[in-house]
Amino acid sequence: MDALPCQGCKGLCCGPVPITENEYKMIHKKLKALPKKLRDDLKNQPRKFGTCIFYDMQKDQCGIHSVRPEVCRAFGYYKELVCFRKPELATKEALTFREKQIGFLSIDFTWQHF
Ligand code: SF4
Ligand code: SF4
Repeated sequence: MDALPCQGCKGLCCGPVPITENEYKMIHKKLKALPKKLRDDLKNQPRKFGTCIFYDMQKDQCGIHSVRPEVCRAFGYYKELVCFRKPELATKEALTFREKQIGFLSIDFTWQHF
């Protein structure tokens, strides 16, 4: 699969995303396992309004990459999730979620829930 040119975007497409219960649990587990300093560094970074609470502005990448939600993994590769910097990669048809979504990260689930 071709890669998206994400370097330099600073989380441009990382806004509130829907998550499932399992995704919530996995993110929770990952954040609990982080050393306190790393966790606090990520938590307290200044972000633009609307940018995902887990975007690492300093490293310019997802701060929870290994456990990022399904919709984040799909972004850029589905027709309804087009990346404007590389729209030709969005070739897959309708994304269907395997599990029920329980709310939105950054809106329904904020740092205090983790
Ligand atoms: S998916 Fe596209 S818009 Fe989002 S960070 Fe990557 S290149 Fe930028
Ligand atoms: S979880 Fe990661 S990839 Fe998904 S919106 Fe947040 S920062 Fe972006």
